[in-house]
Amino acid sequence: MSQCQHNAGLQAYLDGELSVEATEVMAQHLRQCPSCAVQLDRLRALDTLLASAPRPHIPDVTLYRLHMRVDRLPAGVIRRTAEALAAMAAMVLIGCTIAVATMSRPAGASQAVVPVWEVNAITQTPEQPSGTPEEQLAMWMAQDLSRERNQ
Ligand SMILES: [Zn+2]
Repeated sequence: MSQCQHNAGLQAYLDGELSVEATEVMAQHLRQCPSCAVQLDRLRALDTLLASAPRPHIPDVTLYRLHMRVDRLPAGVIRRTAEALAAMAAMVLIGCTIAVATMSRPAGASQAVVPVWEVNAITQTPEQPSGTPEEQLAMWMAQDLSRERNQ
């Protein structure tokens, strides 16, 4: 069974988290898409299973002790933990940005020859062909193609 693009929104639909319009769109889609209808049935079954699962009994004394420990935690510990997590997230973001930038650059891009039409487009040299902008662009592209063909 292939994945439908609407599969991602099924849990939000089931949980009633979609807007009125999005809910109507999803309901209409569900009448036409067997894949999503089956997936929605599975999600409903999972919700029912989780709701019927027995919850562990935690004695009142244990709950009281747990709450007391959390209340006694100094605010600084929570703040420092949040700062450390934010710093780690920033490092991951920076690392991923660098990795993506490095991987997306073609090999030898730093030594790549700048195409003629880019040079002509940037510099206003007297070598520019005369004519309309469309004719100039055609000339630059022709020069660029002939240069690549000669390499
Ligand atoms: Zn679907």
